[in-house]
Amino acid sequence: MPIYEYICLSCNERFALMQKMSASEKDASCPKCSSGQVRKLISSFCCSSSDGGFSPSSGGFSGGG
Ligand SMILES: [Zn+2]
Repeated sequence: MPIYEYICLSCNERFALMQKMSASEKDASCPKCSSGQVRKLISSFCCSSSDGGFSPSSGGFSGGG
């Protein structure tokens, strides 16, 4: 299971939870103050942008008329 990082809006405590991918903020609560007012943080991505994407279109559109 992936680990999600949360921040408590009540005491600004940052904590990590191991949850299912389908878990939401409602399933998390602050371990410090037990508040349900938490927000999920975006994990820092370690991967660089993958290449690929634009490629010269071969052929082209067939113009009608
Ligand atoms: Zn808290």
